[in-house]
Amino acid sequence: MQKEKLVILGGGESGVGAAILGAQKGYEVFLSDLGEIGEEYKVILQKYGLQYEEKQHTEALILDAALVMKSPGIPDKAPIVVKLRKKNIPVISEIEFAGRYTTAKTICITGSNGKTTTTMLTYEMLKRAGLNVGLAGNVGKSFALQVAQEVFDYYVIELSSYQLDGMYDFRADIAVLLNITPDHLDRYDYKMENYVDSKMRITQNQGPDDWFVYCADDPIIMAELDKRTINATKVPFSITQILELGGWVENETMKLNVNNKTFDMTIYDLALQGKHNLYNSMAAGISGSIVNLRKEGIRECLSDFQGVEHRLERFLRVHNIEFINDSKATNINSVWYALESMQTPVVWIVGGVDKGNDYSELFDLVKQKVKAIICLGKDNSKIIAAFDGKVKEIVDTKSMEEAVRSAYFLSEKGDAVLLSPACASFDLFRNYEDRGRQFKEAVRNL
Ligand code: ADP
Repeated sequence: MQKEKLVILGGGESGVGAAILGAQKGYEVFLSDLGEIGEEYKVILQKYGLQYEEKQHTEALILDAALVMKSPGIPDKAPIVVKLRKKNIPVISEIEFAGRYTTAKTICITGSNGKTTTTMLTYEMLKRAGLNVGLAGNVGKSFALQVAQEVFDYYVIELSSYQLDGMYDFRADIAVLLNITPDHLDRYDYKMENYVDSKMRITQNQGPDDWFVYCADDPIIMAELDKRTINATKVPFSITQILELGGWVENETMKLNVNNKTFDMTIYDLALQGKHNLYNSMAAGISGSIVNLRKEGIRECLSDFQGVEHRLERFLRVHNIEFINDSKATNINSVWYALESMQTPVVWIVGGVDKGNDYSELFDLVKQKVKAIICLGKDNSKIIAAFDGKVKEIVDTKSMEEAVRSAYFLSEKGDAVLLSPACASFDLFRNYEDRGRQFKEAVRNL
C-alpha cells in the first residue's frame, strides 16, 4: 500500500518532532523550510533518514501532501499555506497532529501573558507529586517528539494562539485560560475578535468530563462566556471577588474549592509574588486539585517554586539595589503587572521594537513607582514623548551596558532596577533571552 504523504513546513523543534512522529506512524515525510535549518536539527533529520529541504519550498513536493503540519511561526498568509488551503489540503498544528497519537491526559495552558510561568509551575507540581508527566508546547522538547519517544500519563502543554489556530479535533482534559489582552494582532488582521476566537479554541471539543479553568476578572473572557456554550465543568478564579467554587482571595488567603476539595494558603507564603502571579498560582493549584494532588504537595510547590528565567527574575543585589530581569515582558500588560508588584522606587529600563503600545495605560503606575526611565532601543522617541514630564529623569541609551550604567547611577540604596521592556528585542538583541542574559552580565560587571 502506498504511504500517505505528510508535509511539514518549518524545520524547528515542532517540525522535526512531527517529522519523527509522522515517520513512526507510517507516513511518507517531507519537511520543507523557507529559511535555514539549524545544524542540530539537520543532524537529527539525517539520523532518522527523513527527506527535507531548506531555503526553499518546492511546490511540486508540497502540494501533493495528504496532510500538512505547519510550524506555529509560519503565518496563514504565507503563499505556500494559501496554496495548500486552496487545494483543500488540511493544514494543522503540531499539537493537533501529536494529540492524535496519545491517550495521556492533557492540561493545556493559554493566555496572552503568564503561559510559561503557569505551565512550569503546574508541571513541577505534578512531577513533584510523582505523576508520570511531560512538559510540552512552547517550552522544552516538542510534544510530537515526546509522543513518539515517551509514555507519559499526563502532559502539561503551553499553547500559543498560533498553535491553537491549527487545532481542530484536539481536546484538552483541563483547559486553562489566564487572560486575553491585545497581542500579536498583526497575525489576526488587526482584529481583536479574531485573536479572541483563537484563544477560545482552547475549549473546543470539551465535554462534561473535562474542565475549563479561567480568570473571572478578565472582561474579555467573561463576555465570551456569555456568548458561548461551554460543555466542560467551569472553574473560575478571581482576586477581586469572593467565589464559592474555584479560586479566590479572602483575608489575604488564597482559597480553592475545586473537585470537592478545599485548600487555603496565605498569599505571603507564595513563592511567586505580585498580583499576576497570584492568578498563575491559583490556576496551577486548581489544576493540581483537579488531578487529585495532595494538599501538602500543592502547598509545597507553590511556596518554593524557583520561578522562570527572564520573568521578574530577581537575580542580584548590588549595594542594596535590587536588579530584576523581566526581559520577557514584551507588551504593556505584562509591564503593568511588573510595575504593580514593585514595593520600592523603580528605575525602569524600557524599549525595543514597539508593537503598537499605548503607554498611557502605565501612566498612573509610573507616577506612583518610577523615579527614572532608561530607554533602551534603536529609536526611543515614542517612549520619550509618552513619558516626557511624567518622571524626573528620562535617559536615552542604545546599548545594554550604557542602560545598566545609567540605571545604576540614578538609583539609590533600597531602589530596584527593573528591565521590563514592553517591546520586542530584535533591534539590539537576538531575542528576549539574549537581552535578559546581556542585562544580567552587564549588572554583574558593575
Ligand atoms: P507568556 O508565556 O504568556 O509570554 P510568561 O510566563 O513568560 O508568559 O510571562 C511573560 C511576562 O508576563 C512576564 O514579564 C511576567 O512578569 C508577565 N506575567 C506573568 N503572568 C502574568 C499574568 N497572569 N498576567 C499578566 N502578566 C503576567
